[in-house]
Order: sequence, then C-alpha cells, then structure tokens
Amino acid sequence: MTTWEIKGWCPGALRPMQSGDGLVVRIRPPLGRLSPAQASAIAQAAQAHGNGIIDLSARANLQLRGVTETSHPHLIDNLRAHSLIDPDIETETLRNLIVTPFRDAETTQLAATLTAALTRMPSLPGKFGFALDTGPRPVLSGASVDIRVERGEDGRLILRPDGHPLGQPVTDLATDAIAMAHWFVANGGITNGRGRMAALIAKGIVPPNCTLAPAEPLPTPAPGLHPDGALVALAFGQMRAETLHALAALNLELRPTPWRMLLLVGTTELPAIPGLITDPEDPILRITACTGAPACPQALGDTRNLARLLAPHLAPGQTLHISGCPKGCAHPTAAATTLTATGPGHDLIRNGTAHDTPSLRNLSPQAILDHLKAPNAPHL
Ligand code: SF4
Repeated sequence: MTTWEIKGWCPGALRPMQSGDGLVVRIRPPLGRLSPAQASAIAQAAQAHGNGIIDLSARANLQLRGVTETSHPHLIDNLRAHSLIDPDIETETLRNLIVTPFRDAETTQLAATLTAALTRMPSLPGKFGFALDTGPRPVLSGASVDIRVERGEDGRLILRPDGHPLGQPVTDLATDAIAMAHWFVANGGITNGRGRMAALIAKGIVPPNCTLAPAEPLPTPAPGLHPDGALVALAFGQMRAETLHALAALNLELRPTPWRMLLLVGTTELPAIPGLITDPEDPILRITACTGAPACPQALGDTRNLARLLAPHLAPGQTLHISGCPKGCAHPTAAATTLTATGPGHDLIRNGTAHDTPSLRNLSPQAILDHLKAPNAPHL
C-alpha cells in the first residue's frame, strides 16, 4: 500500500495516482505550452517509463499512464531535465492554472505573473484552480476552475469568482488574485479541506467590488484552422506516444487545451498524423467515454472500444455517453443517451446520468449495434 492511493486531491507528476494500469503521472505544462523538445521528451518518457499512452485532461494537463514505482524516479529525472517538473509537491499542487491557448505576448507575461503568485496563495483545496482567459473573448468558461482572469467588455482585465456573472477590476494581478483567494478562505469556502468558489457564490456570498461584466464568451472551438494555428482533437483525449513524437517533429509550439484538443501554434496547415482528428464532423467527437476497463479499477466493462464500434452508426447530431460504471466520471450530469457498463453488458439510460434508472438492461455490443443499424431505428 502506497500513500499515492490517497483520494480527494489532484494527482501530479511528483505525487502520481494509482490506476488499473499502473501509476498515472500528470504533467502540468508550464505557462500552458510545450516546446517541440519538451513534447518529444514527454513522448520518449511515456514509452520508456510508462505504457506509451498519454491522456489530455480536462484541465489541459498531460497524463502518462502505466508508470511503475520503479520507473517513476527515472521518469521524473527525464522530465526535470526539460523543465517540466516543479521543485516540490507543494509547488506542483498549487500550480493549478489553465491558460487560454489563444493568446498574445501579454497573456504569456500574465501567465508567468500568476504562476509566481500561486506559490504565495493561502492554503487552498486540492482542486481549487485558476483560469487565465485573457484573449479578446473568454473561451474557458466551461473549464472547472474557481478564479477567472478575463477581459471586461471594455478590454480591461477583470478577476471573476467562478459562479458569479461579474468580476473585479484588476489593479495588480498577483496582489488581487491572492486577495480573492484569502477572501474565499476567510468567508468559509473550505470545509474539511474541500470547497469550490461556485458553491460559496451560490450561498449568496460574493467578493467586494464585483461590478464588471466579462466580454461575451466564445463557444468551444472546433478542430480545424484558427488564426493562432491548427486545433487538432484526440479521441477521448488520448493518444499514443508515437502521435506526440510526430507532433514534436513538426517543430511547432504545442498548447494543450481543456477541450481534449491541442493547438499547433502558427501553422496554416492541418497535419495528417495518425491518431489526430481534424474533421469537426467526426462522429467520435460526439461520444463521451470514460477510461473504462481495464485501465480503471472500478470499471465494470469496456467503454472506448464500444464507442469506436458505434460511432460510424450514430445518426447526424446524435450524442452518446458511455460509462464504465455508474459513477459517470466523464459526464456527471444528465445526457440524452447513456450506456453504463454492468458486467454482463451495458444498461441504456435516456435523459439521465450513468446511475439513473435504465430503460433497457444488459445489452450486448451487438444488440446495441443491431438497434442502431435497424431500418427506421429510433435514436438510441
Ligand atoms: S465512471 Fe467508473 S469506470 Fe469510468 S472512469 Fe469513472 S470510476 Fe472508472
């Protein structure tokens, strides 16, 4: 039994998390970007010290899977040589920052300022996070964070507590962000070491001077070419090390996003690399599937093989959530259709969560497929 099995915190590289396929080592890219050399080092480390599988998390971090207790120290040494490792667990835990992939030089400077300020924050819950969303319009509104730096309608910086529609004007980013974190602590935001800003705001407790509205947020971008470069998606946010090697060979800066996509900075061409999705109409993008068996120890069945089997047969616009157990990690809220693994098969739930009452029980993959292929079949 190792102390890494403690739950209720976000894993990092120095403090990995045990999973069904070994240790999960989460790398938080400094300032939300990777140089080609860093991307190449991660791909190499994933092959040498893990099982070669790399996840892109909902907080724009990279996770190496299949690491062992023996290979972990060597992995850390390799990554440290490429400036991808914090000096200690405490610093790593505090560096919970998502930076918009669409940015100018000012945003990169602000990211450095905020990163330095994070080491001077009061003691905060492990999942407490920040978003630096200072492109012309916010794009990180769907990301799970607690304090957001955005631009107001007039272009000035604002600091907005998650869950509240308005923010404070920023005078000095580091000072103001630390002050808002202290306000959160002082106003009862933490209970038993846990707590989120939106929950505190929902109680009607709001920081002072929140008077400025953010600029109108943009919808989540689709894969394809954008003014800042090419946005490429990964099925279920996962790739093999070979794909990251090929990306590194393009010699471009990579910016991980919380949308299970990577921005290839500055290119005007979509790359043709196996494992990347560049077509926004690819039906696999309409399926949300958690890790499932065998990599998740709690899983009662497969998720992603089933997703690949079903994707070509989805009706236009149809979405699907496939969960390895009733916990529903990948889509905790209700979905139009959910398939939850049960062991013998998958339960089908309409307009509910992975643990709601199913309308059909223990379907085999073939039974689900037959249903989809049947002439005039209603949507699942
Ligand atoms: S929903 Fe269940 S099977 Fe899927 S990742 Fe979460 S705990 Fe594992």
